[in-house]
Amino acid sequence: MTAGHDRPPIPARGLLPIGADVNPGGYLMLGGCDVSARLAEYGSPLYVYDEATIRGMCRAFISEFRAQYLDTHISYSCKAFASPALARLLAEEGVGMDVVSGGELAVAEAAEFPAGELNFHGNNKSREELEQALAYGIALVTVDSLSELDLLDEVARARGVRQRVLLRVSPSIDARTHLLTTTGVLDTKFGFSIETGQAAEAVRAALSLQNLDVAGVHFHLGSPIFELAPYEQAIRYVLEFAAGMRGDGLDLQVFSPGGGFAIGYVEEQPAPSVAEYARAIAGAVKDACAALGVREPRLVVEPGRAVVGRAGVALYTVGAVKDIPGVRKYVSVDGGMGDNIRPALYGARYTALAATRMWDEPTEKVTIAGKFCEAGDLLVRDARLPRLETGDVVAVPATGAYCVSMASNYNMAVRPASVMVRDGEPRLIRRRETYRDLLSTSTL
Ligand code: PLP
Repeated sequence: MTAGHDRPPIPARGLLPIGADVNPGGYLMLGGCDVSARLAEYGSPLYVYDEATIRGMCRAFISEFRAQYLDTHISYSCKAFASPALARLLAEEGVGMDVVSGGELAVAEAAEFPAGELNFHGNNKSREELEQALAYGIALVTVDSLSELDLLDEVARARGVRQRVLLRVSPSIDARTHLLTTTGVLDTKFGFSIETGQAAEAVRAALSLQNLDVAGVHFHLGSPIFELAPYEQAIRYVLEFAAGMRGDGLDLQVFSPGGGFAIGYVEEQPAPSVAEYARAIAGAVKDACAALGVREPRLVVEPGRAVVGRAGVALYTVGAVKDIPGVRKYVSVDGGMGDNIRPALYGARYTALAATRMWDEPTEKVTIAGKFCEAGDLLVRDARLPRLETGDVVAVPATGAYCVSMASNYNMAVRPASVMVRDGEPRLIRRRETYRDLLSTSTL
């Protein structure tokens, strides 16, 4: 195969990072780096992040939202992938960050991330976590329960500060994502329900506390949301609620419709563009504010998956190949549910690519199986691929979000390394664990 304008299209090009290419030998190239060479260097499996794609997504969120709604702040939800190197990059791009735990806050601290750009979410923050956040000077805490309101007021008083807060409300709207990732409905552990009156009670309680400054409200419907209508519907409903609380003293300075923006995992299910989400969300906020006669608040948008998802590609080495004639052919790789729990947890679908045979015609339908001791540890079912042999490399695109961050040591597996690539240069941002790491917390 020769490189040039007559070469065939790169398989699943739209799911891969923006600079992805294939060299004449049929090897997948990411950020100008040959991925199979990276595997040899950093060990297999490996997560490769393309820096240009992450920066491109940060810029797209900022420019598309600000084009529609000037006073927009983009806050990356770092549960999707938390890393000090990434935090540095986000700060350079002018993107803030949401954390949900003391550990994620520690990542921000390690990167010396600006405290004024941080927001602390979560339904059960501990006193220690709130103290850690206030000691760092965090800009916002998004409060999720009445007990948290009192606890935070106490922590703020002890520090002699007035803490700015948002209240997380739940709008009883089903964003039709997976049951386990739907958070805006009535029966959810997150937020104060508007429908039951608990949200109104929370606003009144928060306004009565001396050491809290109520800046606004937040909701998050779930993830990934492939439709625009749930955002529009929820925005109208929550802004109506906020306008209705004006008489109680609520001055809505900040309004956050959360994150949840989808990405493409399989070619048959493309996601809306950032511009489409921006138009729908900004339009709904403007329309609702005009209809309700309220001042347009600052808009805080919290993408997680959409910032890093497409940038990341998981690489695995093929080991055992097992053909059950007439039933299924299993191609086992050296990772699986330990580094990507999403297929087993949510039935999430991914696309598999033969990273060492990118120009070969797909001739087989195979299932890419993980190596963990669970029958459900299957990464990609019914993938159309060229014939794979032991030692080939399989790439799974769109694995930058909620894979590394949800990885476990199940079966005492070491978690893989993560590498950031840019202009042909790889940079290790998280080393592969060792057995010594695994045993370092145990005693005899
Ligand atoms: N904001 C909040 C409050 C969340 O809980 C989440 C994810 O669960 C996000 C933002 C980010 O969601 P996504 O990664 O789908 O954009």
